[in-house]
Amino acid sequence: MRGETQMYRATIVSLVCNVVLVSIKSVALFMVNSLAIAMDLGISLVGLIVSIILYYSIKLSTQPADLVHNYGYGKVENVCEGMEGVVLIGIALAMSSQALVGLFHPNPIKLPWVGFSTSVVNVLINFGGAFYIFKMAKRSGSPAIYAEGVHFKLEGFISGMIAIAFIVGMALHAKGLDALARHADPLTALIVSIAVIIPSCKLAKNSFFKLLDATVEEDSQMEILKQIARHIDKFCDFRELKTRTAGRKKFIEFKIIVPEDISFRMGHEIVSNIEKDIQGNIPYCEVNIKLEPCDKDCKFSRKGQRCPYLF
Ligand SMILES: [Zn+2]
Repeated sequence: MRGETQMYRATIVSLVCNVVLVSIKSVALFMVNSLAIAMDLGISLVGLIVSIILYYSIKLSTQPADLVHNYGYGKVENVCEGMEGVVLIGIALAMSSQALVGLFHPNPIKLPWVGFSTSVVNVLINFGGAFYIFKMAKRSGSPAIYAEGVHFKLEGFISGMIAIAFIVGMALHAKGLDALARHADPLTALIVSIAVIIPSCKLAKNSFFKLLDATVEEDSQMEILKQIARHIDKFCDFRELKTRTAGRKKFIEFKIIVPEDISFRMGHEIVSNIEKDIQGNIPYCEVNIKLEPCDKDCKFSRKGQRCPYLF
């Protein structure tokens, strides 16, 4: 299936970046003893686990439909998206309570320069990774890969914030404001936790609503109408247009009302032509059109005209 290669590439890049990030942050945490870096490490660990799950999910989501799952496995992508959101919310909540404790009993951090420079490296890895993953998400149209890109960008901002906090901490320390400097770390951890919760809730919420058979996005809806309109002279009316999504896959169904006395062969031809046109313009979609005979109540009949004939 198209897009599969891009999805695998994005997942491999994400996996490698996460392994590097987890290593850098583990060493930094050991050397610097910072709550903010601990939070950052937690996020990367989740990222690493998610990218492993993602790798297997892609394998599953690209599997063809079978006897047990007649509509394929597309929804596993939305499940992945939701899981990533939920786990991040969990980490943020755990870390914010840690940060609150830290604000009242701040621990002095060691080697802030190490904290600062590793954070800057992390920012570069995250934004570089996010750039590539977003590119692959766009090419494959995969919501799970897009969610992974959001995660990477978010992580980049977090590491950036932590780097700034180290600078602020060092500046305060240089001015002899040690008590204040000690609060910079837990305060950053708290701000980061709150900053993570909001987009993670959004991610989780969106994926759950997509699992409840959300319609296709507006661009595809317009495309369906455009393709139906191209065949407007071949049917009396169309109704009951329904669409739903499962990961990258889209399912479209509707009825077209045709003049009652056209041949079975012609009816079949009209349906297949519309299906082909829609499938040719919307990637990964399955179209199901039902034929119904006109009971002489279409806009043509009402005006005393004959239903539209094809020849
Ligand atoms: Zn009619």
